[in-house]
Amino acid sequence: MKKGLLIVLSGPSGVGKGTIRELFVHKPELNIAFSISMTTRKKRETEIDGVHYRFVSEETFLEAIANDEFLEYAEFVGHYYGTPLKEVEELREQGKNVLLEIEVQGALQIKEKCPDALMIFVVPPSLEELRRRILNRKSEPESIIAQRLEKAQSEMELTGQYKYVVCNDDPQLAADIISIIIARHMESDIGP
Ligand code: 5GP
Repeated sequence: MKKGLLIVLSGPSGVGKGTIRELFVHKPELNIAFSISMTTRKKRETEIDGVHYRFVSEETFLEAIANDEFLEYAEFVGHYYGTPLKEVEELREQGKNVLLEIEVQGALQIKEKCPDALMIFVVPPSLEELRRRILNRKSEPESIIAQRLEKAQSEMELTGQYKYVVCNDDPQLAADIISIIIARHMESDIGP
């Protein structure tokens, strides 16, 4: 069986990656499986442990680093986030196209380790619109929002590291464009 693709979806916090990701659930033809990251961040009210993330203590996370359990991991605005290596490999061996929704430092680690990963970056229509979306989410205190916005600007400087840059004016349209990109890579053996 052909090994599944490794798809990296990055973009600043609040750009709508989560919404786009959910739209892929309605596209079974893409054969996508979602990797569930481990994080030390606190669970938001709308999130479910084991579905959105595995929420763990810093001690557990550091232990997982020591045991080489991550394909990549990074620190983002005061918390750790990491992709489980074993799970991703197993899914890809089963032929699933595994989608990682991760920030740029982790994405660059993947690019090093897996040069054939399909690197996609989602940008907002403008920084003003991004600020509006983050403020609307109301899930974080203002100081964290400010840090996330600052981070967004530095992340946007790294779009050149990605093969595809997709603007999220409309999540459905962005998901459709990304679907076309994935389908194209599934069909042919074109490089990263
Ligand atoms: P949030 O706290 O908003 O859920 O996520 C913060 C950032 O961490 C987002 O850009 C998200 O894509 C990223 N992220 C989520 N899981 C991982 C992961 O496993 N590794 C890395 N490097 N980033 C992640």
